[in-house]
Amino acid sequence: MPPPGRDRFDDADAPHVAVAGGGVAGLAAAVLLAERGAHVTLYERNESLGGRLAGWRTRLADGSEATMSRGFHAFFRQYYNLRGLLRRTDPGLDRLRPLPDYPLRHSGGLTDSFARVPRTPPLSALGFVALSPTFGPRDLAAMDPRAALPLLDVRVPEVYDRFDSLGATAFLDRVGFPQAAHHLAFEVFSRSFFADPRELSAAELLLMFHIYFLGSSEGLLFDVPDDPFPQALWEPLGDYLRRLGVQVRTGTPVRAVHPDDDGGVTVRTDTAAHRHDAAVLALDPGALRETVAASPGLGTPAWRDDVAALRTAPPFLVSRLWLDRPVRADRPGFLGTSGYDGLDNISVLDRYEGEAARWAARTGGAVVELHAYAVEAGADREPVQKRVLDSLRRVYPETAGAQIVDARYEWRADCPFFPVGSHARRPTVSTPHPRVTLAGDAIRCDLPVALMERAATTGFLAAGELLARWGVRGQVLWTVPRAGRSPALRALGALGRR
Ligand SMILES: Cc1cc2nc3c(=O)[nH]c(=O)nc-3n(C[C@H](O)[C@H](O)[C@H](O)COP(=O)(O)OP(=O)(O)OC[C@H]3O[C@@H](n4cnc5c(N)ncnc54)[C@H](O)[C@@H]3O)c2cc1C
Repeated sequence: MPPPGRDRFDDADAPHVAVAGGGVAGLAAAVLLAERGAHVTLYERNESLGGRLAGWRTRLADGSEATMSRGFHAFFRQYYNLRGLLRRTDPGLDRLRPLPDYPLRHSGGLTDSFARVPRTPPLSALGFVALSPTFGPRDLAAMDPRAALPLLDVRVPEVYDRFDSLGATAFLDRVGFPQAAHHLAFEVFSRSFFADPRELSAAELLLMFHIYFLGSSEGLLFDVPDDPFPQALWEPLGDYLRRLGVQVRTGTPVRAVHPDDDGGVTVRTDTAAHRHDAAVLALDPGALRETVAASPGLGTPAWRDDVAALRTAPPFLVSRLWLDRPVRADRPGFLGTSGYDGLDNISVLDRYEGEAARWAARTGGAVVELHAYAVEAGADREPVQKRVLDSLRRVYPETAGAQIVDARYEWRADCPFFPVGSHARRPTVSTPHPRVTLAGDAIRCDLPVALMERAATTGFLAAGELLARWGVRGQVLWTVPRAGRSPALRALGALGRR
C-alpha cells in the first residue's frame, strides 16, 4: 500500500531542505525529497558524490588515466531499496552485471562456493551445509542444535534484545560451529562489518545470516557495476538530481546545524550560513559525531551523548595493483579469503569493470585489488601493504613474477562499528528535533538491512519522515521479511526462545 499523503508539494509551499552528505544515504534522501517537489540543497564535503563509493581520476606510471576508488563492493540482489535508487537513472539495471559466484577460500585449503547452493530457504542453509567441505559429519555431530536454533528464526528488531549483549564469536562457540566454517561463512560476514568477530555484536551476525540464508531467496549472489562507480552510478544520479532542481554543492562541508526559533535550521558551511526548513544528516559516523558536537543547540543532552558514543571501525586498506601480466584465466572476479595474514578478499577488476578491462586488453596486464579490513589501529602501513601483497602471491602464485606497473594504497577509517551491547543507544532516523533526521549505514532502523542497503533504506526513511510532517507521501520500501520465511523453521526456532 502506498504511504499516505499528497503526491507532492505545490510550488508555493515547497520547503527548503538541506541534505548533508552525498553518499548512498544522502543521495537516496535527496532524490526522494526532490521528486516530491522540495527545494533541496545537497552539501558534500568531497569534490565528488558517492561517499565511500566515490571515485577520482589518477594518472598511472605508464601515462594512462584510471579511476581510483575504495573499490570492490558487492551489490547483493536483496538490496531492493538501493536498486530502486539506481533504477532512477538505469531502469533495467543494465549498468550492473552479475558475478557468477561468491567463492571463499581458507589458507588451510578448504574452498566454499555459493553458486551451487539452492536459494530457497530452508534449502539454502541446509544446502550450504550439505555442499560445504567445511561441514563434515563429525562437525555436525559436535554442534549444539539447541544453541543453533536462534539461527532458524531471526526476528528484527527482537534479535537485538536477545543477542546484542553477546559477541559474534561467543555465539558461534556456544553453537559449536566448526572452526573452518567460522572462517568461511561467518568471519567473512563480520569482517565485512570491518570488525573483529570477537567484538562484533552477535545480533548483527544473526541478522546477516537471516538476510542471506533464511530470510530471502536471493542467496549470496551479487552484481557489480560494469564501469567505475562515478561513471556507472553517481554522475548519472548527480545529473538526475540537478534536473530535479537540486543544488548539488560538492566541496562544501557542513560545519554545524543550529535550530532556529521558527522550527527550521541554519546550516553553517565554511563561507556562509544558510536557512532551511529541515535537514537530513547523512554523514559517516565520525563526521556525524563532529557535526553534532559543533552544533550545541541541536537535540537533547541524552541524544547528543548517544551520537558521541557512535564508534568507528578500525582502519582498512584497499590496495590496487596494475600488473604487467594477466592472472590465470580461471581466477574469479572476486574471491573471499581467510587465514591469509589479514587479506580479506581479492578482486580481478579487469574481469568485470570496463575501464580496467580496457587497460588490461591494451597492455596485456591485469588490475587486481586487495582488501584488508580491521587492521590494528596504529599499525605501520608499509608492512601491512607488503603482507597483503605477499598473501596475493600465495593465493595466486602466477602474480609472484609480475611487475607492478603502478599501485595505489587507500587507508581509511570511516565505517561504523557495532560492538557488543551498542544497539540500544544507536541513534535512529528520528531525532529529538522534529525537522532533523539521520541517515546512513550507522543509523538504526530496525529493519533487516545492512551496509549499503541500510544506507539507502535510512536515506529514504529520513526523507519520508520529513515529508510526512508536511502531509506528502514518502515511498514504499522493501526488505526481506522481518522474520524467517519458513513456518517449519520458525516453529523450530521458537523452541530456542523457551
Ligand atoms: C572497502 C569497502 C568495501 C565495502 N564493501 C561493501 C560491500 O561489498 N557491500 C556493501 O553493502 N557495503 C560495502 N561497504 C560499505 C558501504 O560502502 C557503506 O555501507 C555505504 O557506502 C555507506 O553509505 P553512507 O551514505 O551511509 O555513508 P558514506 O558513503 O560515508 O557517506 C557520507 C558522506 O558524507 C560526507 N561528509 C562527511 N562529512 C561531511 C560534512 N561535514 N559535510 C558534508 N558532507 C560530509 C562524506 O564525504 C561522504 O560522502 C564497503 C565499504 C568499504 C569502505
